[in-house]
Amino acid sequence: MKPQRVVVLGATGSIGLSTLDVIARHPERYQVQALSAHHRVRELADLCRRFQPRQAVVATEQDGETLRELLRGEADCEILTGPDALAAVASAPETDTVMAAIVGAAGLLPTLAAVRAGKRVLLANKEALVMSGQLFMQAVAEHGATLLPIDSEHNAIFQCLPPGRSRDLAGGGIEKLVLTASGGPFRGWTAGQLATVTPAQAVRHPNWSMGRKISVDSATLMNKGLEFIEACWLFDARPDQVDVLLHPQSIIHSMVRYQDGSVLAQLGNPDMRTPIAHALAWPERIPAGVDPLDLALIGRLEFERPDTGAFPCLDLARAAMLAGGSHPAALNAANEVAVEAFLTGALAFTAIPQVISQVLAQMPVSPASDLATILAVDHEARERALRLVGAAA
Ligand code: NAD
Ligand code: MG
Repeated sequence: MKPQRVVVLGATGSIGLSTLDVIARHPERYQVQALSAHHRVRELADLCRRFQPRQAVVATEQDGETLRELLRGEADCEILTGPDALAAVASAPETDTVMAAIVGAAGLLPTLAAVRAGKRVLLANKEALVMSGQLFMQAVAEHGATLLPIDSEHNAIFQCLPPGRSRDLAGGGIEKLVLTASGGPFRGWTAGQLATVTPAQAVRHPNWSMGRKISVDSATLMNKGLEFIEACWLFDARPDQVDVLLHPQSIIHSMVRYQDGSVLAQLGNPDMRTPIAHALAWPERIPAGVDPLDLALIGRLEFERPDTGAFPCLDLARAAMLAGGSHPAALNAANEVAVEAFLTGALAFTAIPQVISQVLAQMPVSPASDLATILAVDHEARERALRLVGAAA
């Protein structure tokens, strides 16, 4: 069997490193074709020494020079720079599989390039799909790409759907997709208590270890909002076919409810190497290095409804999906700006949903079927959010 040649975009991040951990367990199956990082050049140099990719991509010329110096004599690797290089390695003929694990809107163009080149695309970068849902899914169909969800919830749903029917819910006898949510570090807190939380508290997730942006998204429940939109696009579901259920233990990663009353769930320890290994090997199964699930040790699985009063981001995302067109892209952009401002201490935690809802209120819904419009909406929403953040500081 020829090894799959894999490009890991965002290799130095939480998902990128977990992906390389799984790959390292199966050298006969996977070969690292290219790795990318933004500015974390030293970490990328370590990964290049270890995995010997053909190419490495960093953000700027200066980052490229530093990487070249660090790798001199230690890795035979072509060093490329800038966003166009990300798209180029993602769509190169030598590439079989692309792990899309850049955080935020910066991942859209390279992920779309991989889709348009008909690659096997492992999608962690949910923001790319949220921004461009219709265009993205059309490109998957047109170019024959294989899209496999990495987000643990969507990967769980994918595993619980009848094989081959993931785009025809009614035909498969499916009533609901149920996304589970841990509730984040502030589950059960009141709006009053949330007003003074710090970035350090917000990034301390009870069950998962993740990048800073998604950790804040988990704390506001915007992560579940983005995942709601992601589920609608991935599985061609209407918004009323997707429910959210809090499940603090993060053992059930999501469920599918069928018309006959059956509910199928996927369970496992909260470790992203499970969905990553599933998607890398699909339709086969491979070891992922994950501890076996010990339900007797866990003892109890609990469930509750989300508190959308104290955590308005979930409803903001739902409303943006219902409004359709450009609103999900605007929501995502405003959220990225607000989260960054919160992380730098310029915005209160509870002001994050306020900034997002004000940006959406300022922007009419327009059709978002082409890339230029989506990028223009992203830009405008960022500008508006930055102004609001500036006024709040
Ligand atoms: P992270 O912050 O740990 O890593 C982000 C990676 O992207 C890094 O390699 C970084 O160098 C790179 N990067 C950042 N900005 C960039 C830019 N402007 N251009 C190019 N590269 C850039 O993030 P993460 O937690 O690994 O999350 C990555 C993606 O996966 C996000 O979209 C997140 O929502 C999604 N996701 C993560 C998890 C998780 O458990 N961490 C779970 C589900 C989905
Ligand atoms: Mg998730």
